[in-house]
Amino acid sequence: MSETMPTAASSISAVRPEWTQARRIVVKIGSALLADRASGALKTQWLGSVLDDVAALSRAGKQIVLVSSGAIALGRHALGLPKGPLPLEQSQAAASVGQISLAHAYQELAKARGLTAAQILLTLGDTEERRRYLNARQTIETLLSLNAIPVVNENDTVATAEIRYGDNDRLSARVAGMVCADCLVLLSDIDGLYTAPPQSDPTARHIPLVTAITPEIEAMAGDAGTELSKGGMKTKVEAGKIALAAGTNMVITTGKVMNPLQAISNGSTVTWFLAGTDPVTAKKRWIAGQLEPKGQVHIDAGAERALAAGKSLLPAGVTRVDGAFDRGDAVIIRGADGREIGRGLAAYGKADAERIAGKRSGEISDILGFSGRAELIHRDDMALSRI
Ligand code: GLU
Repeated sequence: MSETMPTAASSISAVRPEWTQARRIVVKIGSALLADRASGALKTQWLGSVLDDVAALSRAGKQIVLVSSGAIALGRHALGLPKGPLPLEQSQAAASVGQISLAHAYQELAKARGLTAAQILLTLGDTEERRRYLNARQTIETLLSLNAIPVVNENDTVATAEIRYGDNDRLSARVAGMVCADCLVLLSDIDGLYTAPPQSDPTARHIPLVTAITPEIEAMAGDAGTELSKGGMKTKVEAGKIALAAGTNMVITTGKVMNPLQAISNGSTVTWFLAGTDPVTAKKRWIAGQLEPKGQVHIDAGAERALAAGKSLLPAGVTRVDGAFDRGDAVIIRGADGREIGRGLAAYGKADAERIAGKRSGEISDILGFSGRAELIHRDDMALSRI
């Protein structure tokens, strides 16, 4: 197998403290890097160089979690499936074949470097339902405390279309949030975010630093994915939103070099997405992770869209409340399909919330006899988990 790749990054820039000081790092490895496009074979030599980097980082006292794609890409060749998008049942069949080879490769390559690899297959519910979330998090924590290297993938063989992440960019961001990682590395086929696709636009400029994911940044991402990998730059920017909301810094860099993590330490060209530690972010993290919810607020599809667009939750979008919460207590926000979409601090207790549910904010004072806040949950008091 020919794996002709440059060995080091050419353009040198300052290495950020967010990298040198990161203690817990999640690294996402995409299918397009792992599997040879023509033969479908695993690029063992390249993956070995990533594991060399992982071994060096773990010797330096850092904890590493890998999120690896590649199951479908490896399996489809083994099963002789055609190129191009596969129907769900064929991707699942491919994943069930490919995941074995993938896990075997990680096991062997890790072992050769004195590391122990551990396989974790997650479905969407494992990061969204509290009990499963806590359980998955505990397993990863235990593995890290035992110096193993968790290798995470989506459990593609059981996930149906509605309950799939579908791409490992967002999965890796959820995992990073789950284990409170300091840094998420997305190894990509490009060295970061550009103002326009650099392959087709000669005026495209590289963006080294993103501190807020604005509509302009989202527009730059476009939406291309390749046949092997589900995510294009678009899902990477979406992963950035999830990571930043969880307080994890994210870096996009090229995986088309040998030792791509060492390259970051060498100052290669990358794009950093910085989480910032403003009080609102810290508070959101606390709401998402620390508080025991006392009730639930069910909202309609319109309110769900408003929240995704960064708006507060108004009583008008609430269809039902339950539990026993007082003003200021944490509640779970559930979408029209019943799934958790976030948590927040209620501005009204359960009894009042029930009376104003579905009503316009202007009617609140007439209904309750006093004029309270227009929002049931203010955007600054809310941490969304599903975007
Ligand atoms: N979980 C998929 C796989 O292992 C990959 C999803 C993605 O490419 O992001 O093949």
